[in-house]
Amino acid sequence: MISLKKCSVEGCKNPATRDHKLCLEHITDKERDELYQKLYKHFEENEKFVNENFALFDFKDVNLSKKRFFACSFFKASFKNCKAEESQFISCILDYTNIKKCNLTHCHLQYTILGGSKFKKVDFKHSDIINCNFVGTTIKECDFSDSDLYCSDFKNAKLEEVDFIDCNLKKVIFEDTTRKDTKFKYSNYEEAIFSKEKKW
Ligand SMILES: [Zn+2]
Repeated sequence: MISLKKCSVEGCKNPATRDHKLCLEHITDKERDELYQKLYKHFEENEKFVNENFALFDFKDVNLSKKRFFACSFFKASFKNCKAEESQFISCILDYTNIKKCNLTHCHLQYTILGGSKFKKVDFKHSDIINCNFVGTTIKECDFSDSDLYCSDFKNAKLEEVDFIDCNLKKVIFEDTTRKDTKFKYSNYEEAIFSKEKKW
């Protein structure tokens, strides 16, 4: 797993960004623009990304379909209107991300950490989401239907209008979740791990 160096501005807790000693917030506007341009080109020209630092980036309307990410960090990144159909995220860090209106259908996510993240109107249908960590996430109006979620952990998640229809939920942890309009129809929810529900 990639280890990120800290931004060298005193007191700043952000990780330093790609090719810089400072974080995305502390580099100049010009440097930031250049970094985004370079990154978009990098995405266009490559399919496989290993041990790369994408922390804190704000991705809008980016097409990441069929891309493969291994041990990359997207810590505190945000994604809006992005496409990532048939993409892979293996052993990646996506904690504290903010993902809105994105298409992640037919994806393969494994050993990936998404804890503390916020998802709204994200389509995860027909995906394999194996051994992933969704602890403490807020998930609204999202669809995981027709997916295999084997051994993923949603502990302490707040779920609202989330569909898990016809999913494999074997060993999926839903302990201490709050759920409103969450559907488990045709899924093997009896093989998932629930505990006492918190009141909404
Ligand atoms: Zn900084």
